[in-house]
Amino acid sequence: MVAPSVLALLASLAWSAVAAATTESLRATKAGLRLIKTSPEDGGQWITEEQKIRDYKSKGIGFVDITDITDPEVLAALSAPDSRNGNNTVSAQAVSYPSSVSHQAEANPLVAAVSTTNPKTWLKTLTDFYNRYYRSSYGTQAGTWLFDTIRSVAAANPSITVTQFTHSFNQPSLIAKIPGTTSNLVIVSAHYDSTGGSSTARGPGADDNGSGVVVLLEALRVLAEDGFKPKNTLEFHFYAGEEGGLLGSQAVFSNYKSAGKSVLAVVNQDMAGYSPSGKLSIYTDYVDSALTAYTRIVATAYVGSTTSDTCGYGCSDHASARSNGFPAAYVCDERMDTSSPYIHTPNDAYSTIMWDAVLRHAKFTVAFLVEASYL
Ligand SMILES: [Zn+2]
Repeated sequence: MVAPSVLALLASLAWSAVAAATTESLRATKAGLRLIKTSPEDGGQWITEEQKIRDYKSKGIGFVDITDITDPEVLAALSAPDSRNGNNTVSAQAVSYPSSVSHQAEANPLVAAVSTTNPKTWLKTLTDFYNRYYRSSYGTQAGTWLFDTIRSVAAANPSITVTQFTHSFNQPSLIAKIPGTTSNLVIVSAHYDSTGGSSTARGPGADDNGSGVVVLLEALRVLAEDGFKPKNTLEFHFYAGEEGGLLGSQAVFSNYKSAGKSVLAVVNQDMAGYSPSGKLSIYTDYVDSALTAYTRIVATAYVGSTTSDTCGYGCSDHASARSNGFPAAYVCDERMDTSSPYIHTPNDAYSTIMWDAVLRHAKFTVAFLVEASYL
């Protein structure tokens, strides 16, 4: 047994450690610094906003900005190893996924209605913004244009709602919802911010991730015009601030966790327009392995064979869903070694987009939403 006085001493030491950490974080926050984490083991590093883009993002180092994360379960999940080989170390809502597709008769005509006509127009506008950096006025303007565009696409079905999810920075995340007969959520997601390598650089962000945005818009257009009535509620998430360390998605999923929302699937698409292989690439690290297997089944059935890869820590917004306890998968346009060489530079231009890849992702998205609406 430990003497009470020792316990008291230990408690006071623990308290002073907490107080010291709080003082340090207060000082750092006051100086405008942000706390980022680059691996499960990394306890965190205080850096400037500019360093995030220049020293990490531009060099391909993944990170999560954890400055505003206070939930101990989320912080623990962000420190857990990844989930490869079915080793789900982060507990997600338990969902049993089918081992085959079963709604082709309903999905096929909708998949056939997907085209690249509107995506080409939308992507031209998105890439014409000087950049879509989440802290720039251009990033805010892009958010306003995207909000208006989602509303105009959704207007074909008056039951669809479109909302802005605001953040501590100006660029909002945007959410379109097709209400189902249950409140269980099936979510497809893409971030819409971009960076060209610094806060002031030209950043057209065509592949990363204007392509994912127009894929979601096209899937929404097809389902809205059809008047599709799902069983599960379908949401289309367009995140702000991904390039700043998954900021928009962290805030959205933190809110969903607090609200106790039931989420059956989150399928994230970040880069959907550059694919020399001609195959969707379904990534396997920091995801839910059961949902990933189901995602591959749906993709294979509707758009053909897939490839696999891993992209590391803080790779994209699926990591935010996972760390908040929701099953997440990540569908990309290509394996890492043959992916677009232009991302995070001023050369991630409209002219580099391979439209067959955008078409493939949009068809997959419609098929996935129809199939998963019955989960
Ligand atoms: Zn991206």
